Amino acid sequence: MADIIKQLSDRLANQIAAGEVIQRPASVVKELVENAVDAGATDITLIIKDAGKELIQVIDNGKGMSPIDARMCFERHATSKIRNIDDLFSIRTMGFRGEALASIAAVAQVELITATPEAQVGTRIKIDGGQFLLQENTGSVPGTNFAIKNLFFNVPARRKFLKSNTSEFRHIYDEFIRIAMAYPDITFKLIHQDTEQLVLRKGTLKSRVVDILGAKFDRSVVNIEEDTDYLKVKGFVGKPEVASRSKGNQYFFINNRFIKSAYLHHAIANAFEGLIAKDEHPNYVLFLEVDPTKVDVNVHPTKQEVKFEDERIIYSFLKSLVTNVLARFNLAPSLDFTLDPEIQNLESVQLPNAKPDIEKVSSGYLSNTFSKANAAHFIERTSQRKDWEQARNSFFDNVPSAVETAQTITTPSFPANEFIHFPEAEEQELTQQSIMYWNGFLVSTGKSGLKLIHVQRAQERIAYDQLLHRYLYGQAVSQKLLFPEMIELNGKELSYLEELSEDLHKVGFEISSMGKNTVAVHSVPPELLQVDIRAVLEEIMEDAQYSGTFQKPTKDIEKLLRIAARKAAQPYTPSQKAHQALIGQLYACVQPEYAPNGGKIIVSLQTKEIAELFKL
Ligand code: ADP
Ligand code: MG
Repeated sequence: MADIIKQLSDRLANQIAAGEVIQRPASVVKELVENAVDAGATDITLIIKDAGKELIQVIDNGKGMSPIDARMCFERHATSKIRNIDDLFSIRTMGFRGEALASIAAVAQVELITATPEAQVGTRIKIDGGQFLLQENTGSVPGTNFAIKNLFFNVPARRKFLKSNTSEFRHIYDEFIRIAMAYPDITFKLIHQDTEQLVLRKGTLKSRVVDILGAKFDRSVVNIEEDTDYLKVKGFVGKPEVASRSKGNQYFFINNRFIKSAYLHHAIANAFEGLIAKDEHPNYVLFLEVDPTKVDVNVHPTKQEVKFEDERIIYSFLKSLVTNVLARFNLAPSLDFTLDPEIQNLESVQLPNAKPDIEKVSSGYLSNTFSKANAAHFIERTSQRKDWEQARNSFFDNVPSAVETAQTITTPSFPANEFIHFPEAEEQELTQQSIMYWNGFLVSTGKSGLKLIHVQRAQERIAYDQLLHRYLYGQAVSQKLLFPEMIELNGKELSYLEELSEDLHKVGFEISSMGKNTVAVHSVPPELLQVDIRAVLEEIMEDAQYSGTFQKPTKDIEKLLRIAARKAAQPYTPSQKAHQALIGQLYACVQPEYAPNGGKIIVSLQTKEIAELFKL
């Protein structure tokens, strides 16, 4: 009997292998764009025709290839990216090594033009279905230009298998932005049928993400940045109110490469539990950096799935991190986190502040709201670290394995979220029942116990928030004074006021100099109509003088708002209507629990605590 085993020709072998790596035009895009990134390009342009079926062209200004490398790169297992076995364990550069170009060339018509920066001439190569056609010298523009035409022209079964242009384009677009998102230092362009679909100029990570996901994303995300020895995380999490019913925007990157992970998604979804509806999905763009030896990307031919050495650590870490960030955010729903960090770090944004009464805080309302470690809502890096360790230790047994998760992913079966408390629920409880006024307090009774609200502080908080909001969002409202108020100042005060004038304007003040150390206040924010404006300004300046220095304007403006808010608090005329209005406005505040200067606004006595007082 004749021998029947034959060795496959290289061409056939490449064609078969191509099926693994190259499934559709988007796979080609991914490989070529990743190569351009690896080549150190700062400018990458993708040109496609017919959703890549006719043409996929990637032009980069990277390091280019020598004539020999240009020929070599199409050989199977030809790669410049592995020098020794250790490199195999690194995923810092991308992908299965040395497979892509050989595979692409096996199933398409390829033209390559490339030149290194120092070369006098460039190289042009043509390959058709793995068959080498031509190599010649050509003009040299440093960088590489790959044109892939008629993908699968020689594998009709595969070509027929391609979906509509709309669908293939979507795949290409997805691959493209997944790379572009991770490299904000590179300018990317995507051109389809001769029209620019996407131009992503070099910028910050935030600007890149916003350029891709839209300006709406800008206003609706919270920044995340956390470094530990084991894991670094940075990126953005969408606020609960912008969670979407559709699958939404969910991006994980491990060491700068996009991955899909139902398991890690579950960690985030879990942190959102209770904050968004069951049928909504959180938005996030998260970049995780881990020791490359602790992840394995090559578990899936398209390399979008990874295996971690210990996924459960990453799971707990992510969940705890996002939970904390959301908890903090939950107390500050209207703050714009893209603002100047200086503003975010203002004391009354971060509260409790001026007289930090952490002990009281941790034994009071907040301790029911947060774990003790987070009692002072501002979660310091160290405490967060501790918290995550705590979470890891205590919570570890609750972390499901990837397999369990895969099975339960649609119906999370986790212990209820123990951290988050809902001011909304509380407001409802408060507004639905009659409220008593007693001695400067509103007193409410409810199923859960007694609540006392300090009226004046609540007013201060409300006024402060209104003023701050307008200041932050440039929506100053001002009211003209019937008679301008003249204020005399000494030279130092005057120069200080000048320094503040822009900020004061943003709050709603109109002040002009009348010469000779006198200023005239023409308009004020409406809250301050009845207020002795001279006293407000004097208090700020006195304060500043007392402390010896004038502080940075942002700090001072905050102080100004605080003082203004205190002065703006009106005499309170108790009525059911007034109570309801006050409570409604209070709970709409960034931080209903504390007055701008740190004083407690709400004290609650739980039924249980009352029982204990009576030793019941
Ligand atoms: P890998 O990227 O895994 O090394 P590829 O088949 O994608 O394998 O590419 C083979 C080699 O071709 C690369 O290692 C690199 O040396 C070279 N190469 C590919 N694309 C480019 C490019 N755009 N610029 C410079 N060199 C490139
Ligand atoms: Mg490659």
